Amino acid sequence: MKFNVVSLFPTEFKQFLNMGVVGRAFYDHLAEVQFFNPRNYTHDMHQTVDDRPYGGGDGMVMMAEPLQNTLQDIKSNGEIGEVYYLSPKGELWSEHLAKKWADSQQPKTLICGRYGGIDQRFLMKNNIKELSIGDYVLSGGELAAMVIMDSVVRKIPNVLGNEVSANEDSFAKKGLLEAPLFTRPSEWESMTIPSVLLSGNHQKINRAREKVSLLITALSRPDIIIKNNFQSDVMEALEEVDQWTDQEIISWSLNKDELQKLKEIYL
Ligand code: SAM
Repeated sequence: MKFNVVSLFPTEFKQFLNMGVVGRAFYDHLAEVQFFNPRNYTHDMHQTVDDRPYGGGDGMVMMAEPLQNTLQDIKSNGEIGEVYYLSPKGELWSEHLAKKWADSQQPKTLICGRYGGIDQRFLMKNNIKELSIGDYVLSGGELAAMVIMDSVVRKIPNVLGNEVSANEDSFAKKGLLEAPLFTRPSEWESMTIPSVLLSGNHQKINRAREKVSLLITALSRPDIIIKNNFQSDVMEALEEVDQWTDQEIISWSLNKDELQKLKEIYL
């Protein structure tokens, strides 16, 4: 999968491209990225890429012309694919979009803004869609581009050593949050792990994980339950967990008072 990244600060990506499973994916050419710096597409001595905003206001605005020249160069030299401007005003990035991009394998061009943002006419002329990584304002689009590339690249086949681990992640199974994880030792600081995990019965383990997954999603992200119409599944999970010992419930990091509140909502 090919990414083109338009950025005034391409060195920000250095560590990202050299670290962990995603870094390895770029190294192994399972994913590719090419950087384009608008400063290299200016024609004045100072390589000016920004100017003051018309109508006043704080900060500077990235000029349309260097960005247009950059886009033109990407178009004429390679695959531009779909073009997105990273912006707090855009469509919210999601696991669903990450999967869609990874499956499509189509090249993507990501434009990172800086300063106060970029001249709107550049976006209008090129009909560029905007993408946001959350309801907060970053100082530049570079971090957003890294977030997006990371979440897409880890979904490309063979990027993760163990294919199963991506399927077990939060949002992968019916959009639910993942059940808590535990590793050795089985007892730490007087806390034991859920006994079912030691049973060796994988059907039972998967069932317990599924119930816990539903309950923690209902507790911290009720919007996911409502959006997917999982209310009756939450009810079933509550009834099943009611049969567990207090120790088992606590060891899954579930809180009996919070479960009681869920019962008042769902049962
Ligand atoms: N003045 C802009 C506004 O209020 O919408 C914010 C500009 S911000 C300081 C500089 C750049 O950071 C933006 O041009 C954009 O590329 C990037 N950026 C900031 N927040 C972002 C977010 N939540 N998602 C994606 N990109 C973001």
